[in-house]
Amino acid sequence: MKIRILCVVCFLSLSLSACGNNAGADTKTNIENSTGIDTAETVSYGETNEYTQDIFAMDTYMTVTAYGENCQAAVEAAAEEIHRLDDLLSTGNQTSEIALVNENRGGVLGADASYLMERSLDLYAETKGAFDIAIYPIMQEWGFTSGSYQVPEAGRLEQLLTLTDVSKIQFDTENSKIDFGMDGMQIDLGGIAKGYTSTRVLDIFRENGVKSGMVNLGGNVQVLGTKSDGSLWRVAIQSPNEDGSYLGVLSIQDKAVITSGGYERYFEEGGVTYHHIIDPKTGYPADSGLTSVTIVSADGTLADGLSTSFYIMGKDRATGYWREHSDEFDMILLSEEGTVYVTEGISEDFNSEYITEVIRAE
Ligand code: ADP
Ligand code: MG
Repeated sequence: MKIRILCVVCFLSLSLSACGNNAGADTKTNIENSTGIDTAETVSYGETNEYTQDIFAMDTYMTVTAYGENCQAAVEAAAEEIHRLDDLLSTGNQTSEIALVNENRGGVLGADASYLMERSLDLYAETKGAFDIAIYPIMQEWGFTSGSYQVPEAGRLEQLLTLTDVSKIQFDTENSKIDFGMDGMQIDLGGIAKGYTSTRVLDIFRENGVKSGMVNLGGNVQVLGTKSDGSLWRVAIQSPNEDGSYLGVLSIQDKAVITSGGYERYFEEGGVTYHHIIDPKTGYPADSGLTSVTIVSADGTLADGLSTSFYIMGKDRATGYWREHSDEFDMILLSEEGTVYVTEGISEDFNSEYITEVIRAE
């Protein structure tokens, strides 16, 4: 059995006319996560106006880069924010707000967790239960939280499914009070927290006067503005194939690009691969016919939540959802058959060697 966390997205041509020290760079991150140790360090400090920091948090390697005036202060503040959110939101951290409400069957959430709770409940409703943060007991049963993997007994999953329904949790938005209805219920923001974190990093960049920057949270990317020479960021979407190829390259500005795929975290048993995105209807890893889902949106929290949801919902339901919300996001889907589907809002900005079909509004 093995577990791997692969970066899904890489940047191409992180070149900067202002400092020029990355000109023509073709960087790609593909990191095995084995230590769990925070390896935060400053990897490059451009003489003029580029500052980059590598961080280990939320069980993943991250890179935060800002350009222009005040870039160092902005990146340092962003790194602090990432660690603050990790401390607050990670179920793996026993003193996090989430771990404490899980232990105490409820409690009062702070502003960040409360906001994410509201967004998660909205997503639950909008995706008809595909996105369900109460899935945590089932994540544990499969061993995805501990690394002690096992295929659960069917009866055990059925039992646990009675607990894994976030609509059974009472949440009072007035005072941010959360109350689990039953013993054994637990929540996990792993499907949405990184997108929120990247959005917060960009807020901090703006507060510090930075106009150009990017954050890569283990393959989930969000960019601020354009590159400092005014050209668009070019984000490569990695393919689930293990050959290091990518699905295509997307040219964007001011967007989050967030990908979910079963290949990011999985184990194998008896020749079958089991991955970490669980269909709350069955308790088993989702099997919707999609092997990769990328959401492109200015709202990183939405992008993260929807990438997880559509991986469960499959192409037809994802398409239906997009047609009703096409002003909020675009998407790139890869089917098991190897066809790439891209929504028309970004189809002109996406270059791919795959057979590509454009999804259009009706
Ligand atoms: P990653 O975090 O690996 O980039 P995702 O954003 O797709 O990928 O999130 C996967 C995580 O979401 C899982 O590790 C788990 O914490 C959580 N999760 C799994 N299934 C669901 C679900 N049905 N609804 C909400 N969250 C889920
Ligand atoms: Mg997600």
